[in-house]
Amino acid sequence: MGTKLVFLPDEDALIALGAELAGRIEAGVVIELRGDLGAGKTTLSRGLIQGMGHRGAVKSPTYTLVEPYEHLTPPVYHFDLYRIVDPDELHYIGVDVYFNDESVCLIEWPEKAAGALPQADLCIRLEHDPKGRYLSYEAHTKKARRIMGQQ
Ligand code: ADP
Ligand code: MG
Repeated sequence: MGTKLVFLPDEDALIALGAELAGRIEAGVVIELRGDLGAGKTTLSRGLIQGMGHRGAVKSPTYTLVEPYEHLTPPVYHFDLYRIVDPDELHYIGVDVYFNDESVCLIEWPEKAAGALPQADLCIRLEHDPKGRYLSYEAHTKKARRIMGQQ
């Protein structure tokens, strides 16, 4: 699927985009968030998770690998794989239980999983720009296209 580019001038714009995705989120989707440190992966996750009704902080689960938001509908699992050294670590923590038809999985640093996780429906990439951030994405499934507001 083609890559679409969106310019986000500030943090609020990124949060608002996350909230917009929250309104169209569907159970069973896997969303990869790619981009350098500080690109905005967690900020976008925060917009989405709070947009789904979570009250409270949303931080990168850098040390715990995954932060569950099971009070949301559908439940969300937010991963940050930055510190993973060996993709086998994902099997040790029993990561498979998080990936199912009822959940939404957000994955920061998916490249660290090196194929140890299910294929993503949606791949979102954030890039630094002197004036803000650029977001591009590839929707690999119908669900992903609906979430991004496409046909
Ligand atoms: P990551 O999870 O990709 O490492 P974070 O979301 O934790 O990045 O941090 C992004 C940083 O960039 C935050 O300090 C945030 O305020 C800032 N930021 C987010 N979106 C924008 C934007 N569109 N323009 C400028 N700064 C932004
Ligand atoms: Mg982060």
